[in-house]
Amino acid sequence: MSYTLKMLRFRSPAPLFQRHLRLWLTALAVLLFTTPQRSLGKESWLRLRSPNFEMYTAIGTRQSTDILRAFEQVREFFLKSTRARLTTHRPTRIVVFGDEAQFKIYSTRDRVVGYAFRTEHRDHIGMLHSGRYNREIATHEYMHLLISESQTKLPTWFQEGTAELFATIVVSENKVKVGELGPSAIWASQNQRWFDLDKLLRARYDDPLFNNPELAQAFYAQSWAMVHMINLSPDYRPQVSKFVAALAAEGAERAFAQVYGKTLLKVRDDFDKYLDRKKLKVAVYDLPLEKVAAVETQPAEDVEMQIVLGTLLAQIKSSGTALDMYNKAASTQPASWELREELGYLAERLGKAAEAHEHFAKAIELGCINRSTILHYAGLLGDTPVAAEAFKRALERIPDFDEARFRLGLLLIKQEHLQEGIAQLEKMKQLRPEWSLPYCRALVHANLRLGKQDRALAAAQAARSYAQTPEEIAEAEQLKQVAERSVTQPR
Ligand SMILES: [Zn+2]
Repeated sequence: MSYTLKMLRFRSPAPLFQRHLRLWLTALAVLLFTTPQRSLGKESWLRLRSPNFEMYTAIGTRQSTDILRAFEQVREFFLKSTRARLTTHRPTRIVVFGDEAQFKIYSTRDRVVGYAFRTEHRDHIGMLHSGRYNREIATHEYMHLLISESQTKLPTWFQEGTAELFATIVVSENKVKVGELGPSAIWASQNQRWFDLDKLLRARYDDPLFNNPELAQAFYAQSWAMVHMINLSPDYRPQVSKFVAALAAEGAERAFAQVYGKTLLKVRDDFDKYLDRKKLKVAVYDLPLEKVAAVETQPAEDVEMQIVLGTLLAQIKSSGTALDMYNKAASTQPASWELREELGYLAERLGKAAEAHEHFAKAIELGCINRSTILHYAGLLGDTPVAAEAFKRALERIPDFDEARFRLGLLLIKQEHLQEGIAQLEKMKQLRPEWSLPYCRALVHANLRLGKQDRALAAAQAARSYAQTPEEIAEAEQLKQVAERSVTQPR
């Protein structure tokens, strides 16, 4: 994925940098110096579902729905404005804590208001309700997941700067604005004590600077300003895609030199001048986003919350604590596939393969619809009849799950269930480019074995039409020859 900004147009001068300062400062003070107004005690959790996200929240429906809409909009914006293709079916789960003390139990370090991480089967975001900054925090964290989806290795400053830049995305009617000022901008406008560029560009997440709130804030602000400049200043913007590629491959110093012909000293000079400007540009996209479909809200069951919170604990603190929580929950809720799923991954992480298999099998039997878990479990089973059974069960519930159907088809053909395998492959709705050759190959061989030469020939011809690279073309030609030979020399 590339999240390079393809600018459609710049809007007329953006708000004055300084003009918004007072407003933002007041807002920041509210964020930093007040605790969320919620009474302590047992939280009542809600579960919200939108087409692509699920959220567990301890704050009111209205605010939660607003955050959920922000996620849907940001997702759609990225799919539409970049070449992004989100190929994984990993669901994203967001947990919004209403109470600071409780959030602390489930957070990574002090003074953090949000975090994101990925497990094999799900993306997770944990965040503290922070009033008017909810959308910014949510979007910042979601950006991290999108960046990691792109599998581009980017340095810490660029990841954080990008997350901060897009955190203030504004969606209104048919327009999306990127580059508006947020908390990092306030800090940037107040603080001129910047890191040496070299230090900023080299810092990694384990750098001690992140233990110091002041330094960490300065790091975010400077990263935001750098990324703002690179994405939105006329000097840097036209080459930004090239720069991102070079940054991932060669590191910052070489990337600046190769793409812009600039030394770090010159970049630093540009940076200082950029922040001295009275106006910062904002990118505006003419991009109609769809109205977010209805959000479904329900009270969350206790057992669900044990699973949800246990997963956060397992990642952040200790697997042992999570295991206790899950087991406690399992004794009261034996029919929960989500619980079995979590137990499966946890057992795997603890090196207990047999137990993991058992839990995954149970999860699928109980109705698991998490596609990545189904694929993961079948992957553990390899080319076995048990894997075929697992796919079949899953497909009963998720008929449009093409990846499962594809794998099942190949598996059945391998196991000599030719007719059945062909039927599965032919039921697929969409063929990803990387599947097309194995798909045709399987159809050619299976049909030949069944004596259906005309069908084999048709599959070989289809292979030729899909083939793009020289290797693919060669293989398609070969498949065609195999099929033709069978036509002319029937056994
Ligand atoms: Zn971040």
